[in-house]
Amino acid sequence: MKNIVIAIDGTSASGKSTNARLVAQALGYVYVDTGAMYRTLAWYCLQKNVDVHDAKAVTALLRKWKTRLECADARARLLVDGYYPEKEIRTAEVSAAVAQVAAIPKVREWMVARQRECVQFGNLVMEGRDIGTNVFPETEFKFYLDASLEERTRRRSAEGVNENLAARDQRDSQRATAPLMVPLGAMVINNSQLTSDQTSHLIIGEVRKRLAGKK
Ligand code: C5P
Repeated sequence: MKNIVIAIDGTSASGKSTNARLVAQALGYVYVDTGAMYRTLAWYCLQKNVDVHDAKAVTALLRKWKTRLECADARARLLVDGYYPEKEIRTAEVSAAVAQVAAIPKVREWMVARQRECVQFGNLVMEGRDIGTNVFPETEFKFYLDASLEERTRRRSAEGVNENLAARDQRDSQRATAPLMVPLGAMVINNSQLTSDQTSHLIIGEVRKRLAGKK
């Protein structure tokens, strides 16, 4: 791995996206939202009336769908049929379906391969659930974000989304393939009481310290 990868994992609504974007911006790295990739497949299944509980049907769709990775405005994204369903993947229906498709081993294999391909775009800040454990376990820049369930639920409601986060976290943590867990060697940040500026500064400071130590 020639380029630097900063892995930011954590529970749902723990501030991964906001902080990963802030860190990427501050360091001039490319931001990769791997949750968006899983969401895109969940959305596509709903579009094509494929039952997300039917692993065979989802895998068959995965073999057929026409996708492309692109990097625009320092963000990597997965297009399907030339389209990035930015808004569509944030609906309650997609949020309820995504953990099911993400538990299918063939889906994870496919996604991990695409996520690794993102190094072609440069140094990365990649957020997800298994980046430090499974996608780039060799990176020395691993962070794990968490916050109390109460605070995470409050953050989602403030965005106008009412979701059972505990149920999604449980599915993500208990699946057999690449479950959500704290990566070995990760810096764990509980940001219940922190602003995103404070959280991102902690991450940026730690990365800069380690990079300086390598010179
Ligand atoms: O981060 P976000 O909430 O958008 O992720 C949506 C879902 O995608 C997660 O709940 C999880 O089921 C799945 N996911 C995953 N591995 C990743 C990123 C997301 O399993 N690296």
